[in-house]
Amino acid sequence: MQTLSDSAGADQAPADEAETGRTFAGVGVSPGRIIGSVLLMPKAVREPAVGELLAAGTSAGDASAALRTAAKAVQANLTARSASAVGAGREVLEATALMANDPMLVKAAVKLITNGASAERAIWDAAASVAEMLHNLGGYMAERATDVLDVRGRIVAELRGVPAPGIPFSETPFILVGEDLAPADTATLDPAKVMALVTASGGPQSHTAIIARALGLPAVVAAVGVDGLTDGTLVFVDGAAGTIVVDPGADEVALAKSWETTTAALAVFDGTGRLKDGHLVPLLSNVGGAKDAVKAAAAGAQGVGLLRTEFCFLERDTEPTIAEQVEAYRGVFDAFPGKKVVVRTLDAGADKPLPFLTDASEPNPALGVRGYRTDFTSPGVLERQLQAIAQAVEGTKAQVWVMAPMISTAEEAEHFASLCATAGLTTPGVMVEVPSAALTSASILEHVDFVSLGTNDLTQYAMAADRQLGQLAGLNTPWQPAVLQLIRLTVAGSVDEGHDKPVGVCGEAAADPALAVVLVGLGVATLSMTARALSAVAAVLASVTLVEAEQLAKLALSAHSAADARRLVREKLPILISLGL
Ligand code: PEP
Ligand code: MG
Repeated sequence: MQTLSDSAGADQAPADEAETGRTFAGVGVSPGRIIGSVLLMPKAVREPAVGELLAAGTSAGDASAALRTAAKAVQANLTARSASAVGAGREVLEATALMANDPMLVKAAVKLITNGASAERAIWDAAASVAEMLHNLGGYMAERATDVLDVRGRIVAELRGVPAPGIPFSETPFILVGEDLAPADTATLDPAKVMALVTASGGPQSHTAIIARALGLPAVVAAVGVDGLTDGTLVFVDGAAGTIVVDPGADEVALAKSWETTTAALAVFDGTGRLKDGHLVPLLSNVGGAKDAVKAAAAGAQGVGLLRTEFCFLERDTEPTIAEQVEAYRGVFDAFPGKKVVVRTLDAGADKPLPFLTDASEPNPALGVRGYRTDFTSPGVLERQLQAIAQAVEGTKAQVWVMAPMISTAEEAEHFASLCATAGLTTPGVMVEVPSAALTSASILEHVDFVSLGTNDLTQYAMAADRQLGQLAGLNTPWQPAVLQLIRLTVAGSVDEGHDKPVGVCGEAAADPALAVVLVGLGVATLSMTARALSAVAAVLASVTLVEAEQLAKLALSAHSAADARRLVREKLPILISLGL
């Protein structure tokens, strides 16, 4: 059957062909071939019906006892897990364990049960009140509100006899399989335990895919039906081909072994991105905070091309203070003394909601008040963030550039540049991720010093295809001729109009070694990617001259489909095969 996904790359099998025998086909979003056993991501805990009462025949005494037992069991489980955890993870688990059996929480729930509520509803409402109280206290206490809500889900799951929500726990490494992952789930993912990620939905630019690439985990999204597998099933995951094979045989074992050898052999990035003829292409890294930045610096990144500041505050339901922001940003700057760090102001909304900035009830969040646009609805937050960035710059040696996400017009770019000037930030830029910005880059560059192409959103908006939807994966690829044209026009807006200001790419396209060559051939000056991709991208760039890259860009632009563009370019880059990419 012809499907929308049929235009995905040759090694990106269409989602609609999922489950042919014991093989599931999805979209490969992070390379790697691995064999391991499945552990399913439990479904989110369903809220008990509002006003749910004690079941007939259940006394308040029995329900209260069940609740206390469930709370104790959750506490015991979290305490046991904290014993084998280390560092910050251990502290979080210890704090959550205490919260599970907090006398105030349990007492409040028992009171509601005495008034006739079911145990599940009682703990749900009691936790909501406690969370609100903590939230109103502000500061450290406000942050504990999330723990209470986490614990509430666990207690309800325990009462229902279903698995606890969140990333499952196991002593041994496993392949995580689920419907999809929320950004908050991925934040608690331990790469020492999770060998690969497989989801039934999600698109190639979804945050599951981005996190998988950042962690270097093989990953497949949009593998329809894969969440029907059972815990403990042995599977082979091919994160480039996008396949999952149940009960792998000798062929898969051989493929997994050869991948191990390939990754070990892939040269480490020496810290200077360049083509075969010496043309320099600085390779920067995308980071979500200081920890990532330290890793990126160790991997040889020549700076940070995208600091996703919203990742520093994903769990927050209140605006971070200036002091908190200064601390978060300075940690990143300190990892890159003397190097460029591009800070993106908060890109809240759509797949990255921040409750203090975005409205969860919008009908079309991806087209709504997100990114820079939150300045229209929450004035002051952007100015305070710019102040915090300016303060964090003081005393650090990093060269800090600042950019705004989701800019649609030259007026917006002008306004952002004026806010940066007021805050004392000297190198303002904007992201080009809306087609209108790509088409008007010349006017935009009259106001700012650089632009950075966010190809994830640029693709979603150019193709009108939600980046989170696996079914639209075939449309949602930056290899689409229309997306390549928008990139070409963005560069032309800088070069042809005599601005000669740098156009970088910080979307996932930069992490695809073959596409990276095309981007350079289109005139892109710098590439920013997850630190894990640096060595592969550097190795492939070093195999072509600028003239060859330009020829490959022309070839891609002239292709009739994304699949053709990708195939034609890959055929001319034999190094990809030898590196197993
Ligand atoms: C992009 O859209 O390409 C981008 C880099 O931003 P994000 O993925 O954070 O939306
Ligand atoms: Mg974006």
